[in-house]
Amino acid sequence: MTLKTFHDGIEPLLDQIDFDFLKDNRVCFTCLGRAFAKLGQDGAEEGLSNLARGQEIKKMKDVPDPTEPENCWLCEGITDDYPRFASMAIEKMNEWEYDTFLIGSKFDAELVEKEELLWSEVSGEFGEPIKAEFNREVGKLVYAKTGKEPEFNKPHIVTVIDTMYESVSLQIASLYLYGRYTKYTRGIPQTRWPCRHCMGKGCEKCNNTGKLYQTSVEEIIAQEVMKYSGGKDHRFHGMGREDIDALMKGRGRPFVVEIKEPKKRDLPLDKIMEALENSDLGASATEMRPSNNDEVVRIKSARSDKQYVISGIIQGDFSEEKLKEVVASLGEKTIDQKTPTRVKHRRADKIRKRKVKTISILELSGDRVAFAITAEAGTYIKELVHGDDGRTIPSIAGELGVEIKVEELDVLEILDSHDPGAD
Ligand SMILES: [Zn+2]
Ligand SMILES: [Zn+2]
Repeated sequence: MTLKTFHDGIEPLLDQIDFDFLKDNRVCFTCLGRAFAKLGQDGAEEGLSNLARGQEIKKMKDVPDPTEPENCWLCEGITDDYPRFASMAIEKMNEWEYDTFLIGSKFDAELVEKEELLWSEVSGEFGEPIKAEFNREVGKLVYAKTGKEPEFNKPHIVTVIDTMYESVSLQIASLYLYGRYTKYTRGIPQTRWPCRHCMGKGCEKCNNTGKLYQTSVEEIIAQEVMKYSGGKDHRFHGMGREDIDALMKGRGRPFVVEIKEPKKRDLPLDKIMEALENSDLGASATEMRPSNNDEVVRIKSARSDKQYVISGIIQGDFSEEKLKEVVASLGEKTIDQKTPTRVKHRRADKIRKRKVKTISILELSGDRVAFAITAEAGTYIKELVHGDDGRTIPSIAGELGVEIKVEELDVLEILDSHDPGAD
């Protein structure tokens, strides 16, 4: 909007407006202009500043003399103070690495009431709230000084300026990194596992560590990332999870690691992956890249087929021929799995239908056997083999009529068809 269109738009209106209210309640040019901010345009985001609007109105009509901002009945000097508020915000944000930000603000309730009174007495529906002007103008100043982009949708930092207490508080967005992890040591859970007795506080049972398991894939990866990012805490979002005693091989399992309140966001991911590869902590990460919360949602809801190798000992008499027959009958088969005995305490007890895609005997030597299995997401593989006392039907052990003691289970590959990096 230009001065001319503003002028043309407001001229017919000015005669109808009673400015007497401003005789006893003198406002600054900016507050006067802001009362007419929405005139002739959809929003006040573009075009004339409210200061320029106020000055123009004064030229066109004999309104009571506007005052200096510091004496303004409405803002009491705040509209003159935007550069100082911007500096306060910048100083506070400087402790963090960020590319995008959003300014928010808090105002005295009395000021907001005064503004609403001004609208009802003078300008009606054309007024813009001081909060909107403040956030926009301070945001522009921060952008001008820092080159960082104001952003409404998921900024790195939301900076809330309290104009009453002259304080600045920050909300720091999490840092998200995608990757795929492999696990080459058994006995490591995917995520942190606090001690059940003390809930993480530390007790005799956990040797004052607060943990049931001393490490996890989450901690191994997050701690390496936080050497560079800093931050307060972490979370780990895996595309499913393997058993604690299962290895994760192949290209690895997709994950997003989330770092809370990171000091830095631009990280040397190659160095992080290299350090993990050269460590012997039990897990490693590859294909790391920046990610976001949307990908967490995708990863958590992905239903990918998985390939496994599972080995065990057949405990009883069986013929190789019968075993081959049983295995052949399970390919492409939909099985019923009651919640396994081993997880019953933490999962709802119900029957799940899962599809076995392919299954074959990988190795058979005496009573030792290994199977290669591809199955739908959520299939309990150990139970498919040993039957879980009839809770999984059919199972290899159940059909064979003997018990099978499962020894080792490894995940060979996660077939994540939605991964942009997938083959
Ligand atoms: Zn004012
Ligand atoms: Zn404990």
